[in-house]
Amino acid sequence: MNLILFGPPGAGKGTQADRLTSKRDWPKLSTGDMLRAAAAAGTEIGRKAKDIMDRGELVSDEIVVGIIADRIEQPDCRNGFILDGFPRNAAQAEALDAMLAEKGLDLDGAIEIRVVDSKLIDRINQRISESAEVRADDNADTLEKRLKVYHKETAPLLPYYEAQGKLRHVDGMQNIDDVASQIENVLKGLSGEDT
Ligand code: AMP
Repeated sequence: MNLILFGPPGAGKGTQADRLTSKRDWPKLSTGDMLRAAAAAGTEIGRKAKDIMDRGELVSDEIVVGIIADRIEQPDCRNGFILDGFPRNAAQAEALDAMLAEKGLDLDGAIEIRVVDSKLIDRINQRISESAEVRADDNADTLEKRLKVYHKETAPLLPYYEAQGKLRHVDGMQNIDDVASQIENVLKGLSGEDT
């Protein structure tokens, strides 16, 4: 299945994508993870992206679209993939449509993990306290910026997927296991619709 996980920063997209990946043959395609790896490796893309990421702004569409286009070509994506953090604006959503159409692929569903903004700061603080390696963009100031960007650029994509009948919601305020089982129910519904 080809899926997108939507949700504000700290909603648990990465955690839920990891869970799905561990149970199924669908790799997680996280542009954030790929950009952080590029920054750690000191590649040209990584160097360009690092300051932008640290400020909580969006890296250029050209860079992230290129990363995803290359990644989707890999053989492990043949059975499906989970997009985490992509697309993040209208231009990226259009690029994704074009990429999939070119490969004769379709999107099966887009799942929005809903969490109110006030809860996200607690989550980020928890992530900082639990993590051995703290992300440079995991702090209250940058979170505020990332939330603004999410509401301005990314949340407006949701009606686009809704209009295609592909959008589903889960309550991201529940604990990790409960959110995972809500996602499993969504997947059952989506695969039932396929048959
Ligand atoms: P994430 O790990 O998804 O929270 O992403 C961390 C940061 O990477 C974001 O705040 C952006 O700076 C950058 N980033 C990740 N995905 C994208 C994307 N699709 N478009 C632009 N920037 C992105």
